[in-house]
Formats: sequence, C-alpha cells, structure tokens
Amino acid sequence: MKTPTEIEISLSALQHNFRFIRRLVKKNVKISSVVKGNAYGHGIEQYVPAAESCGINHFSVFSVDEASRVMKIKQPGTVIMIMGWIPADQLSWVIRNEIEFWIFDLNRLQLSLKEAIKQKKKARIHIELETGMNRTGLNVAEAEQVIDQLKAQPDTFELVGLCTHLAGAESIANHVRIHRQVKRFKIMVRLFQNHGFQPAMLHTASSAATITYPAFRFNMVRIGILQYGYWPSIETLIQYISQRKDKSDPLHRIIRWKSSIMALKQIKQGEFISYGTTYQAIENKTIAVIPAGYAQGYSRSLSNSGWVLIREQRLPIIGMINMNMLIADVTSIADAAIGDEVILIGEQGKLSISVASFSELSNQLNYELLSRLPAGITRSVLP
Ligand SMILES: *Cc1c(COP(=O)(O)O)cnc(C)c1O
Repeated sequence: MKTPTEIEISLSALQHNFRFIRRLVKKNVKISSVVKGNAYGHGIEQYVPAAESCGINHFSVFSVDEASRVMKIKQPGTVIMIMGWIPADQLSWVIRNEIEFWIFDLNRLQLSLKEAIKQKKKARIHIELETGMNRTGLNVAEAEQVIDQLKAQPDTFELVGLCTHLAGAESIANHVRIHRQVKRFKIMVRLFQNHGFQPAMLHTASSAATITYPAFRFNMVRIGILQYGYWPSIETLIQYISQRKDKSDPLHRIIRWKSSIMALKQIKQGEFISYGTTYQAIENKTIAVIPAGYAQGYSRSLSNSGWVLIREQRLPIIGMINMNMLIADVTSIADAAIGDEVILIGEQGKLSISVASFSELSNQLNYELLSRLPAGITRSVLP
C-alpha cells in the first residue's frame, strides 16, 4: 500500500553529486558513503544499490542493525564499515561477515581478537583516535595498550585504518580546534607507524572537512550529507563557491518528499484554523489539507513556519502541524484540486524546498529532519 507521503530518489541527481565529489577529491582518495540514519532518511534499501551503480563500493553505518540491512542488498565486493554501536554478542556476526568496524575501547578489541581466533578469521579493524572531539576514541595511553595487544596477537586482525572525527569542520569558528585535532592525529599515526603498523586507510574528514580542508582528506573521506545534495552548513557552501567563478550550487538534491492535497476548504475572515488559536485568517482563505503530520515525519516545529510547493508555487503552512495532517494556504491558486501534488522537500518546476530554507538557524535541521523520515514511507528510485 502507498503511504500518505512518498519519497522519490533521483538517480541522475545522485550521479551528478558523485561526479562532483569525485572531481573534488583526488583519484587515490577512497569515498566511503555514509548511510547511517537509514541513509539520512533516503532509505538504505533504495539508496545503497543506487550509490553502487554510481561506482561506490564502501559504506559507513553507525550500528550493526544498519550493517545487516546493507549486507542483505549489497554487491559482493562492497565493503561495510560500522563506526559505532555493536553489542558484544554480535561481534561474531560482524567478524564472520568481514565487516570493518571501529575500535574505541580495549574491551571491544580483546573480544574481537578472541572471536577472530575462534573463527580463524581476521578482525578488520579501524582504530579511532581521540584527538579532541571528546566523544569516542582512544587517547595516547590507550593507543599504546592497543599497540601492545595487537603486537601480542599478530595474526588475528587486519589494521585497515586509523581514524578520528573532527568536531565541527562546518564552522570557521572551530578552525583552531580542528587544526589541533589533525596535529594530534598525525602524532598518533606516527606512534603506530613507529611500531611497524602500516594501515591502508587514514581518515578524518566528513563532508565539511572534505570541502574546507583538502589536506585533511588523507586517503579516505566519509561523505554523508553532500552525496544527498545538501551542504553541512551555509559556511561550507560559501567557502566552496568563494573560490569559484560559477557561484551556483554544484549539488543536486536527490530526494523528493511529496504528498497530495487531501481536502480543500473555504475559510471566512476571522476564523481560527486548526488546533488552538495560533492562526487566524486575516481575509477569506482557501486552505488545503495535506496528509503529512509529525507521525509522517514532518516536524511539528514547522507549525506556522514551513512551506510547501503546489502547482509550482511556494505556499505557507498555517496553523499547527497535527499528527497526520498539515494545512497550507492555497488562496493564491485559483484552481487547486484534490490530488494535486504537494512537495514537502525537493523540487517542483523552478522552485525547490530544502529543509534548511525554513530556518536561518542552522543546517542541522537538514540532518535531523531527513534522518527522522519514517522508515515506513513508500520509497522509490527514479531515473
Ligand atoms: C555522520 C558521520 C560522517 C558524515 O558526516 P556528514 O557531515 O554527513 O558528511 C562522517 N564520519 C562520522 C564518524 C560520522 O558519524
């Protein structure tokens, strides 16, 4: 059955974005496509094969359940990397399936090496180093313990990578902190090298650092938001286009989140619309009811402030977002009809709605609203 809202992924827009990213980073830099958060709401099952068809063969996820979803649909040669959560009792599944995973504590390392011995396989590990984000990652003393452990059990693992995560490369305000992090990263990489380790991959950069700090790409980048056609921040976009003649946005958004008009109604001047008294009609109005509420993933914080596209016009959402419905003011469309396409995110004609365009506050809303798009929405990939 179709759901009240639907998601369409544009393969041609995705191809365009990967061409852009590929041109940006050098040939010898591996692109890992970050598909955590259900591929930022685009849908792992739809997105991963589409990205593979663009030549991507490395995917990063947060957790083991996401890894198992990618596992079911990926091509044989495609590699999965878990950056975060693995419960101890699922390490055996991870190692058996040759999934790469991050080590950020000694306990996980010990359990992994034990499991590797049991399975006569090698644990394919990336060691995450603490460089100043202060979230997960091993400090110098812990890294030295890891080195001792690894040296003691040389045939139980493959040290695929050393990595760290930068704390806010999307803002120039963090410039000093980011540089300090990479300095620490290099020192810790040298520590491993001095002990004879030669990891294949060094990686620190997500989308923002890939754009803003070319030197921090090393030989792998973890690209999330960019591939979906969004910028990590306005600053990152400005940073990029300020060095270009062409000032247009080089990315294409690949998602269209759409619905349709479910009901239309004439409202008299002075009437309140939807729950409570947050919106009062200043004049006679035509309103369209759209089956997209917070249960469908449409943020309630966009009550009286979001926009939709109908008949290639940008129209305001009025009143509160309900659990299953929102209301748009369609007074300016003379012949709006039930069944008309409504764009919640994406393009229609020459107009486009991006999540962030609702708010001057931050592009973080892109990440949040996209990744909260419910898994159950009907999704399809279009050419
Ligand atoms: C989410 C994430 C990324 C990708 O971030 P974007 O800003 O979307 O490119 C990269 N690395 C890690 C560790 C992440 O958690």
